[in-house]
Amino acid sequence: MEKAKKIQILKDIINIKSVNGNEKAVADYLTKLFNEYGIETQQVAYDTNRDNLVVEIGTEGSKVLAFSGHMDVVAPGNLADWTTDPFAADERDGNIYGRGACDMKSGLAAMVITMIELVQEKAELNGKIKLLATVGEEVGELGSEQLTREGYADDVTSMIIGEPSGYHIIYSHQGSINFSVSSKGKSSHSSMPKLGINVIDHLVEFYTRANNEFRKTVYTNDVLGDFIYNVTMISGGEQINSIPEKATLEGNIRTIPEYDNQKTVAKLNEIIDDLNKEKEYHLELTIEANKLVVKSERDSDIATIAQKIAETKIGQKVPLLGMPGTTDAAEFIKAKNTFPIIVFGPGNETPHQANEYVGIANYLDMIEVYKEIAKDYLNH
Ligand SMILES: [Zn+2]
Repeated sequence: MEKAKKIQILKDIINIKSVNGNEKAVADYLTKLFNEYGIETQQVAYDTNRDNLVVEIGTEGSKVLAFSGHMDVVAPGNLADWTTDPFAADERDGNIYGRGACDMKSGLAAMVITMIELVQEKAELNGKIKLLATVGEEVGELGSEQLTREGYADDVTSMIIGEPSGYHIIYSHQGSINFSVSSKGKSSHSSMPKLGINVIDHLVEFYTRANNEFRKTVYTNDVLGDFIYNVTMISGGEQINSIPEKATLEGNIRTIPEYDNQKTVAKLNEIIDDLNKEKEYHLELTIEANKLVVKSERDSDIATIAQKIAETKIGQKVPLLGMPGTTDAAEFIKAKNTFPIIVFGPGNETPHQANEYVGIANYLDMIEVYKEIAKDYLNH
């Protein structure tokens, strides 16, 4: 494929406004593109205007290499902070600017073009490459959850997630839990607090006990760093001279193998059960999202091959690292078989920021790197 067309494809999908939805328009665009090259696709509906996309090339064999990328992007934020329209991709200084340029329409486009070029070149593939393009990654990894539940990842033997890692390969990332604690009490006039039950007091006790548990000791992992616990939102009460009868706090936790999701949720439950029993509170825990720690082997086939090929092609060291964020991998690892995953895609430090961009050279390099990784992995 011509270089200009590769750049145009990326611009085209940046220009599709898939902010936490509307991923079907991206899936439709990619379907049309694949079809031009005689490649069939399957769209898996999640909701209205929200389709995942599954595409396979290659032959039956013992290996299935999955390429995965999400089609949604986050909101652009304050438009005044952008130099150009976030949904009109702009090419300047060797970069492409726009929402999703980095996270992660460049990774997605690179994977799609890799598959098309392998078909065009009639590359011999002893196995399959399977694209799993997802919806709703940014708001709970909805598409990967659905595709995994419906069995689309069951035959995968290795996976590359094209999230922006730049010239690094991620083989392990933290888990993430969103939780809320609500509390029910009784309203009364604030001059007569004995007639009411002040639930803000109750929540503050939970807050203190949880901080003691999760923050007093530093739990850490060599690759992933520290366990992180934060209450990030709090609301309650209705009027300044009324005892509050309703209050809620919410928080986000980043887990590591040393203090994993299961242990964390059990501990939250324990703190709440203790308070409810000891003091007859009515605290209730809700787990809004529970994304597992992803810990692939550092020396898996796919990690070793990717590093070797990337270093040869790019001519610089490409280290294997862990990272704090979560990705669709947290859902895909729930598939029937266990398989190693790496996160490796074009990009930099600009995801979710104004003037997000990707280097064109980095984007084009990754297509070559993906092609060689796929051939090496499937044929050796
Ligand atoms: Zn992303």
